[in-house]
Amino acid sequence: MDIAAPNGTPFVAPADGVVTLAAAEDVFTLEGHLLMIDHGMGLNSAFLHCSELLVREGDVVKQGQIIGKVGATGRASGPHLHWGMKWNSARIDPKLVISAVSPSGNGP
Ligand SMILES: [Zn+2]
Repeated sequence: MDIAAPNGTPFVAPADGVVTLAAAEDVFTLEGHLLMIDHGMGLNSAFLHCSELLVREGDVVKQGQIIGKVGATGRASGPHLHWGMKWNSARIDPKLVISAVSPSGNGP
């Protein structure tokens, strides 16, 4: 799921979780600066192309906490938040769970 946003726009955790990966170095040529959060119960979020990561591996994050900034690192045609979600091994569309993880209706 791509969310177009200007470079540097902060984004928040869609749900409580633990940061399992915070790669702010240029390790991932496609994904860019990559942030992954384990929300528990097999649910994981990945945020790609970030310009800045504001959390570290092992950090416990709360829903609504600012965790990073939108960017265009890696292979991205322009700044956007690339949000992927996985439930166990299945890729799912974050839009399907947005109402569940964001009761206010305002997504990240
Ligand atoms: Zn994308």
